[in-house]
Amino acid sequence: LPPASVTSLQDEDLAALLPVPGTESDKYRRGVVGIAAGSARYPGAAVLSVAGALRGGAGAVRYVGTAAEEVVRRFPETLVTEGGPAGAGRVQAWVVGPGSGDGAEQALREALAAEVPVLVDADGLTELARLGPDALRERTAPTLLTPHTGEAARLLAGATGDAPPPAEELAAARLVTARRLAAAYRATVLLKGSTTVIADPSGEVRVNPTGTSWLATAGSGDVLSGLAGSLLAAGLPPLDAASAAAYLHGLAGRHAAEPGHPIAALDIATALPTAWRHRR
Ligand code: AMP
Ligand code: MG
Repeated sequence: LPPASVTSLQDEDLAALLPVPGTESDKYRRGVVGIAAGSARYPGAAVLSVAGALRGGAGAVRYVGTAAEEVVRRFPETLVTEGGPAGAGRVQAWVVGPGSGDGAEQALREALAAEVPVLVDADGLTELARLGPDALRERTAPTLLTPHTGEAARLLAGATGDAPPPAEELAAARLVTARRLAAAYRATVLLKGSTTVIADPSGEVRVNPTGTSWLATAGSGDVLSGLAGSLLAAGLPPLDAASAAAYLHGLAGRHAAEPGHPIAALDIATALPTAWRHRR
């Protein structure tokens, strides 16, 4: 592993990280984020990823997949394109995998072939673990992986050929796990959990101090994937996009759960504009 430089994020970092549209900006210059997510079985993951993406700073969100009807009913702002990522037109960053099910293989292949940043999450990570780090070898644009502990275990197994390590082992060694994955896949890795750790292949590591255990709810990670993808499309380098997304997602969770009550994943997306106010 390269020497590590570890920092903790704070409110002051947000001003430097978060995009502000220039006066002459238009929606295309602000960035179009493509979301390849959802399946007949899990249409909601697509809705939640789009919900996060719509509040992440990109100028437009383009959806490809089988859940277009559900997505547009909930979010009429979404652009919908038939087919997969390959034929989808102008997109500055892809998010692949939330709820993708059987569609993950093809969506991942098409997105990785594009010369733009790609965020891989959920079923996309399961597919990537099957393929191993070789699947990223030809890429010229950055890749951002957003595993939870179980997905991280599969990714490690996919890189080493060994059996997936026990989840408790990875949770205890969160920082080293993120760094090992970043080195093995030559990708930025956002390892989710009670403390989220973001590692770059360069050895730079950021730890996210925001969040609340109320975030441990179904669909929470899907919102994060869209948010981080949106920041990638807006032009942030993967380490910054991942850092800002984790920080905002944690703040939004705290705001949404403020009186100490449970939250649903969509509440996190709804609280994102409030989280942006922490930028000073
Ligand atoms: P996922 O498992 O993909 O739905 O992602 C779960 C999200 O909730 C990630 O952003 C995690 O960092 C966050 N999360 C899960 N468990 C906790 C916890 N105990 N404390 C704080 N955040 C958590
Ligand atoms: Mg998830």
